[in-house]
Amino acid sequence: VRRVAETLLGLVLALGAVAASQAQRTDDDAAPAPSAAPSASAPAPTSPPPDARSDPAPTSARLPAARGEHAEHVADYTLRVSLDAVDHMLRGEGTITWRNPSRVAQRELWLHLYWNGFKNVRTLLQRTSPVPTPPGGYGYIDVERFFVREMDADLWERRDRFSPGDAFDETDIRVPLPREVQPGETIHVDVAWTSKIPALTLRTGYAGAFHMIAQWFPKLARIEPDGQWKHFPFHYLSEFYSDFGLYDVTLDVPIDHVVGSTGMLTDESRSGSRQERRYVQEDIHDFAFASWEGFRLLEQKTEDGVTVKCFYPPGQYEVAAAEVAAARFGLRHFGERYGKYPYGKLVLVHPPPNGARAGGMEYPMLVTTGGPWYGPLLGARYAELVTLHELAHQWFYGIVATDEHTFPFLDEGLTSYAEAEAIEAWMPSASLFRGLGVSVGGPAWHRVSALAFLHEASVAAPAESFSSRADYGSVVYHRTSTILGTIARVHGEEGVRSALGTYARRHRFAHPGPEDLIAAFREALGDDVARTLEQALFERGWIDLAIEHVETGRVAESGGIFGDPREPREAPHVEGHDHFRTDIMISRGGSLVFPVEVELGLADGNVERVRFEPNDPLGRLTYTGKSRVVSAVIDPERRVLLDADLTNNAWSVDPSSLAPRVLERAAFAGGVILGLGAP
Ligand SMILES: [Zn+2]
Repeated sequence: VRRVAETLLGLVLALGAVAASQAQRTDDDAAPAPSAAPSASAPAPTSPPPDARSDPAPTSARLPAARGEHAEHVADYTLRVSLDAVDHMLRGEGTITWRNPSRVAQRELWLHLYWNGFKNVRTLLQRTSPVPTPPGGYGYIDVERFFVREMDADLWERRDRFSPGDAFDETDIRVPLPREVQPGETIHVDVAWTSKIPALTLRTGYAGAFHMIAQWFPKLARIEPDGQWKHFPFHYLSEFYSDFGLYDVTLDVPIDHVVGSTGMLTDESRSGSRQERRYVQEDIHDFAFASWEGFRLLEQKTEDGVTVKCFYPPGQYEVAAAEVAAARFGLRHFGERYGKYPYGKLVLVHPPPNGARAGGMEYPMLVTTGGPWYGPLLGARYAELVTLHELAHQWFYGIVATDEHTFPFLDEGLTSYAEAEAIEAWMPSASLFRGLGVSVGGPAWHRVSALAFLHEASVAAPAESFSSRADYGSVVYHRTSTILGTIARVHGEEGVRSALGTYARRHRFAHPGPEDLIAAFREALGDDVARTLEQALFERGWIDLAIEHVETGRVAESGGIFGDPREPREAPHVEGHDHFRTDIMISRGGSLVFPVEVELGLADGNVERVRFEPNDPLGRLTYTGKSRVVSAVIDPERRVLLDADLTNNAWSVDPSSLAPRVLERAAFAGGVILGLGAP
C-alpha cells in the first residue's frame, strides 16, 4: 500500500500548477523534461510504449536458482460470490481446503473476518483509523455455515464471538475443533456467508457503482511451521499474512459490469441481467476484484507473454497509458532483479475519482493505482511511481509472502527501495515532482521523509506499534529505503542487488523473516554490512557526520609538530619550499559507520578527495600538501543518504560560499514540500 504521499500530492500539484503558469524553469541543472528523456523505455503519454527495449543482459544469471516454480498449497479456496451492486451486498459460499502444514497437531482454526472491522464505531479498525467509515456506510461479514466435512459438524456456534481480549472486535476469530487435525492432515470446510459491503474508506468497499472487493471472504490465518497461528485483529496500519493456495473463484456480477480480477479467466457466461466469470489461479495467497460498469480497458501483452490490463475511468487514457508503460518496465526490471513474474496476467485498477481511496494497494496479480488525471500534464510522476510501488509488491508481499503484521518493513520497506531504484533506472535523474522550479528524485524524497521520525521508532517493529500513519510511513517505508539506498551507494549497488536478488529467489513462494534478509546481505556484502543493516533495522541505528573543527597552517620543513600549542602555529615562509598541513576533526553521531570521501578545496584551485573511515565518535583527517585547504565537504556525492544533518557537512574559510554548493537542491525541495504537506 502507498499511503504517505497522497495528501502531499494534491498540494504539490496545486503549487506546481501555480509555479508552472508563472515562471520559466530555473533549474538549469535539472534533468530534461520527462517527455524528452532519451531512454527508449520512457513513456510516451499519448501513445502506447514501444514493444522492444534494448536492456543489458539480465543479472539473474549470477544469482542462485529460484527455490521453486510453485508454492506449497496450504489453504485452497473454491468460492462462488454474488455481487448486489445496488444494495452493496455480497453473498458467498464454497469450500476451504486446509492442510495442517505444521509439526503440531491443531485443536483450533483462526479466521480473519476483515469486513467486521467496518461493522460499527467500536471495532479496532474504526478506533484506530483516522478515516472513519461514514454513518450508513458500515459493512460486515456474517458467516452462516462453517461445516467441517471430516468432523461432520458445523462448528460456527463453537467459535469465540470476539477477537482475543477485545469485546468490540470481530475480525480475529478462533474456532475450536472437536478433535485434533494431525500434521499433514487435510480438512474441507464448507462455508457460506453474507456481507454488507462497506462504503469505501480504507482500500475496500463501494463508491457509487464502483466496487473494490478485497479482504472479502472468511480467510484462514497463516500457521507457522512450529504450529503457531499468526492471527491478528484488523488494525488500520496492519496489512495481511496468509498461506499460499489454489483459488477457484466464480464471480456473479451485473451484466453491464466490467471486472478486473486476480486469477486467470477460465469460463464466462451471461444470463438475463447477470454474468458469471470464473477465475482460477495457483500459487497465490489472496484474491481481489474490482467491478464497475464505467471501466475502460487498456490491454497490452509483454514480451514475456504477461497480459497487462489497466481498468481506468473515462477520460483518463493518458494516465492509464503511463501506468501500463510503468508496469511493462517494472515487470521486466523487477523480474530481472527479483525473479520472473510467475503469473500470466497483471491487472491495474485505476479507481474513478470518487473511489480514490481504493488506490495504491496490492493484491496478487492485481494492484490499484491512483493520481489525478492532470498529473502527467504537470510532470508529476505519481501514477508511474504508485504503479511501480504496487507492482514491486508482487514480489515483496505476493511472491515473497512475509508477515506484514509483524514486520511491515519487509514488504513496504523493500518495496519502497525497489520503487526508488526502479524509477532511477527507468528515468535517470527524473524528478518525482516538477514545477516548483526544482526537481525531487526518489532517494532524496525518501531521505527527507525518513528523517521526520529519526529516533522515535525501530524500523523492524510491528505495524500496530506505530503511533500514526506519519511515523509508520516515515520509518517503515522511507527509512528502510534510505538504509538500503545508503548501503547501495556506499558499498555498491551490485551488492544490494545481489543480496535482494538472492533473498527474493531463495524465498520465492515462501515466508521469510528479517534474519533471512540479513543473511542474504551477509553473503553478498560481508559481516560488517550485515551488522550495519541489523543495527539500522532493529536498534534505531543512525549517523550524522559533521565537521567540528579545522586547523590549517604552514609546516616547517624540519617537521614541527602542528597543533601542539607550544609550537608556532605557522612556520616561516621559505621560498619554494612551502608545505601545508590541515587537520579536520570529524564527528560521527549515532552508531552506524559508513566510510566516506571528503572533498578538499585547495587554495591553488585544485580539488582533492580523501577517504575517511568514521570509526570513532571524533576522528581526525590530516592532509598535507603544497597548498592550503580552504574548504572541505564530507561525502560530496551524498552517498550516505542516512546522514541526518547535511548542513554540518561542510566547512570553508569563506562561510558565505557554503550552502548552495553543499546541499542538493532536491533535499531543500523535499524539505520544503514535506514541511508544507506533513500533517
Ligand atoms: Zn506498499
